[in-house]
Amino acid sequence: MSMLSRRQFVQGGSLVAAAGLLAGCGSASSGTGSSGPAADGEYTLVSEGKLTCISNLYFPPFEFMDDKTGEPRGFDIDMSKSLAEHLGLEVNWLPSQAFDSLVPTIKAGGTADVAIAGMTITDARKAEVDMSDPYIDSNQSLVTKVGSEDTMDTLDDASKKIAVQAGTTGADWAKENFPKAEIVPLDDIISAMNGVVTGSYAALVTDLPVSSYQIKNSFSSLQIIEEIPTGEQYGIAVSKDNPGLTKAINAALAEMEEDGSLDAIETEWFGAAL
Ligand code: GLN
Repeated sequence: MSMLSRRQFVQGGSLVAAAGLLAGCGSASSGTGSSGPAADGEYTLVSEGKLTCISNLYFPPFEFMDDKTGEPRGFDIDMSKSLAEHLGLEVNWLPSQAFDSLVPTIKAGGTADVAIAGMTITDARKAEVDMSDPYIDSNQSLVTKVGSEDTMDTLDDASKKIAVQAGTTGADWAKENFPKAEIVPLDDIISAMNGVVTGSYAALVTDLPVSSYQIKNSFSSLQIIEEIPTGEQYGIAVSKDNPGLTKAINAALAEMEEDGSLDAIETEWFGAAL
């Protein structure tokens, strides 16, 4: 996170933690794991003792499938383990699902406790689910194939196809900024990257940490032609029926910020605390 937002975040987090202490809640033992209405400061879990998480697992380095182990890996996966530890829970990751189905799944309840998916905190999402305090900052990026001469100007044309991931902030940005182009919503951003390499799409729009990581590690034939400072922040989606869980997660995130756990995971995946 940037210095400014980190300071704001720590302050906010401390207030949340302090409020939790004053109210005598927010401790790791407050999870009930039972069904029925949660008492003040408590929360329910779909599976007792576990923080059950959903995501779209095609968003490296935040979440992706490890080819060798068949297990999910990434910044969000490590963050979820630390989060669960701070809550006194185990972490349980369910199979990948489409990004645009995550908020509806959390809203419907019963399948997972949280969606952790490099998910930007937006007003539209906050109308459907609760979003935790932010845990990392992000921006957008515009990506083309190395050798392409397309620019922001030439891409806004009816002859150009621009790939995005359906239901993302990148998709919204592309629609707004390329009104003449054909915006193609795909299930995941890896397909978009492959499609730009093979020439199916002139460009793609996705979160900057994802395009940077992928270009460095797997897609050397792609290039970032614009970094777009949208000033996004990722949060964890929780059902509005489970406010005690959002409160406990916010207290845990503040602890993770203070005890260095978040910095350590940022360094592990990005080479430095962001
Ligand atoms: N941060 C973007 C969003 O929230 C993209 C997330 C993703 O594709 N996993 O819309």
